[in-house]
Amino acid sequence: NAAYDFSLFEAMESEVRYYCRKFPVVFDRARGAELYAEDGRMFTDFFCGAGTLNYGHNHPYLKRRITEYLARDGVMHGLDMYTVAKRTFLSRLGEQVLAPRGLDHKVQFCGPTGTDAVEAALKVARRATGRRGIVSFTGAYHGMSRGSLAVSGGRRARAAGQVGTADVTFVPYEDGPAGPFDSIGYLERMLSDPSSGLDIPAAVIVEPLQMEGGVYPASADWLRRLRELTTRYGVLLIFDEIQSGCGRTGTFFCFEHAGVVPDIITVSKAIGGYGLPLSMVLFRPGLDVWSPGEHTGTFRGNQLAFVAGAAACELWGQEGFRTTAAVGARRLERFGAELRDSDPAITVRGLGMVLGIDLRAAGGTERAERIQRRCFETGLIVELCGRDDEVIKVLPPLTIDLARLERGLTVLHRAIQVS
Ligand code: PMP
Repeated sequence: NAAYDFSLFEAMESEVRYYCRKFPVVFDRARGAELYAEDGRMFTDFFCGAGTLNYGHNHPYLKRRITEYLARDGVMHGLDMYTVAKRTFLSRLGEQVLAPRGLDHKVQFCGPTGTDAVEAALKVARRATGRRGIVSFTGAYHGMSRGSLAVSGGRRARAAGQVGTADVTFVPYEDGPAGPFDSIGYLERMLSDPSSGLDIPAAVIVEPLQMEGGVYPASADWLRRLRELTTRYGVLLIFDEIQSGCGRTGTFFCFEHAGVVPDIITVSKAIGGYGLPLSMVLFRPGLDVWSPGEHTGTFRGNQLAFVAGAAACELWGQEGFRTTAAVGARRLERFGAELRDSDPAITVRGLGMVLGIDLRAAGGTERAERIQRRCFETGLIVELCGRDDEVIKVLPPLTIDLARLERGLTVLHRAIQVS
């Protein structure tokens, strides 16, 4: 690409760099759902930092709060000391997110990534139960550290890091590329049989909506049965809401669709509001058996992310904000239905502002890659997911206006048609 100079990146950055290879431009500015390269080329962003930019780029309300904080020399780093920024965030989180859902969960800041939250959640579960085993599901993605990778499905990433799965038992997700499987029935059989070889685990960790795994929403019934089973056996239930949370599916947490409450919730990505790093574990007060300092970290709670995150919680509390997201979600759903009608080989899944376009039986990975490339060339950023990158994942900002959404969908539709 002659318009950009990549030489410094190529010379200095590790070969492990990834997204830049799919989107070979040099980005410079962004606003709302629009990303601009340094030569002024504009892209509509249907990727949103892998679900981090639920409020779009540089949301004016969040930006104002951040710039005010910077202008008054607000504390920028505070370990886990008490700060005004943290107090304001906790207050908004309590008012806008926890209390309306009847959640009395305690907050443990981790940081700064989602992986850190998963790592801490597994530790909380083991610390509180005194047990070691974890049950996870096929297709799961929970992170890249040794603990979180051990409970993730991807063989390739684990092999690259020589990460084993000792203490982890994998069970098929409710639905997946291989079709339905009665995983709850299977788990029940294993847990109830003292000779099954499965010791009672500390926890079950699950994404209520698998995103990296290929956009597979778990049904409400399946999540309810999982809740009932884990309660019966005294096994903690961890919902990883890192990508499915913060309003992405229409409710603040995806698990609300099922009307169940998990013992432990991991939250990151969009909770920082502005693309700023923030991650946390929420857990039932009874699980708070930590002694001070048993789990620490330098970057637990980015102060600027607290500021933006508090403002983002306020946005979520506004009726108008949720209405915009709901209008977008309905348009996305209709787009999915139209696509399915035009080509029955395409499978479409989704919930709220997430759409997965599964091309497994309609050209597979190669076609998905062609579509992604074509979208990029015509000004749209979309990412692939699924076992073999055979699913196009559509993740517009929740704040996107209908006209912009329509333009992006037109580009996507055309790319699917011609690829
Ligand atoms: N859990 C889920 C469900 C995720 O989608 C991700 C990131 N894609 C993670 C954990 C890990 O988060 P991070 O990349 O911030 O470490």
